[in-house]
Amino acid sequence: MSKTNLFNAIDKGVVTGSDIHRLYAIAKANQCAFPAVNVSSSSTLNAALSAAKSAKMPIIIQFSNGGAASFIGKNSGLPSIDASIAGAIVGAKYVHQVAKSYDVHVILHTDHANRKLLPWIDALLAEGEKFFSQTGQPLFSSHMIDLSEEPIEKNLSTCSEYLKRLKVLDMSLEIELGCTGGEEDGVDNSHLDNSALYTQPEDVAFAYETLHCISPYFTIAASFGNVHGVYQPGNVHLTPIILLQSQNFVSEKYQLKANSLDFVFHGGSGSSAEDISEAISYGVIKMNIDTDTQWAYWQGVSRFNDKFNGYLHSQVGNPDGKDKPNKKYYDPRNWIHAAEASMTSRLLQAYQELQCI
Ligand SMILES: [Zn+2]
Repeated sequence: MSKTNLFNAIDKGVVTGSDIHRLYAIAKANQCAFPAVNVSSSSTLNAALSAAKSAKMPIIIQFSNGGAASFIGKNSGLPSIDASIAGAIVGAKYVHQVAKSYDVHVILHTDHANRKLLPWIDALLAEGEKFFSQTGQPLFSSHMIDLSEEPIEKNLSTCSEYLKRLKVLDMSLEIELGCTGGEEDGVDNSHLDNSALYTQPEDVAFAYETLHCISPYFTIAASFGNVHGVYQPGNVHLTPIILLQSQNFVSEKYQLKANSLDFVFHGGSGSSAEDISEAISYGVIKMNIDTDTQWAYWQGVSRFNDKFNGYLHSQVGNPDGKDKPNKKYYDPRNWIHAAEASMTSRLLQAYQELQCI
């Protein structure tokens, strides 16, 4: 059965508040999860929106701190934190403007913010409050606060303070328990011991107990050996069963229905369809994908260059004649659209692996 009609009761465009978790609940009940795509430009953003439109499925679009800065180019002259703030704001407003035209549901999110990056989130919340008072909607659907490197009490006490602020704005919070390995966007966890990469059920229970009395709208990135990036086969050992153990522990301890928690799968790139499917069965509703979509985008350019190589060495003159112009080949719209189409098709593969289509 097609899953595309399951989400029709929820308004298209940027999704906020309880609607976010309605989307997640429907996804979970139907054993599928949404891709969360890191974007760093209007081009990568358009590729993500196109994928959601083709799949007729909700999408999560997220900005990392570095990706947000990149959105306004390298030479704005702004200090890096201000560039990340400006880029995230303009990127979010861009999504608000176009998501309805694409006729898709977008959950608009920011990726990892450790303690050093909290001023970035503070600034986005300040802008979000302004946006909320003007439009009655939050600027972002959700933010991620990743204090997984810190002791869990400190992690959750800070996350609790943020969840209170997000609740007022009709937003959701993603937290992280246990660390994601590898390196992404300046956050380098490649030195970590393997045991740090596996979350304990007791920690998940503590997070549930602390957060649910503030707001039910939170998701948990629990680590089951996840690593950012793509590595040689055999170097990453995913153990999704950790998620099931956590679900069971929390359900039993607090007398909740089975599979009550909403989990996030970080480092989705390079993961096998089997691991993804197993993780979905244990309550994963969001899978982050960045490295594989970066590669797909590049492959689009590379293939374009291979295919039209004879037309890309000079402005005039190609295999069809020495006076023939090459403008229609080197116009950025053509090769950038090839990059976008390649990224879109990689995301359609993700939608399949996430059991959406
Ligand atoms: Zn991550």
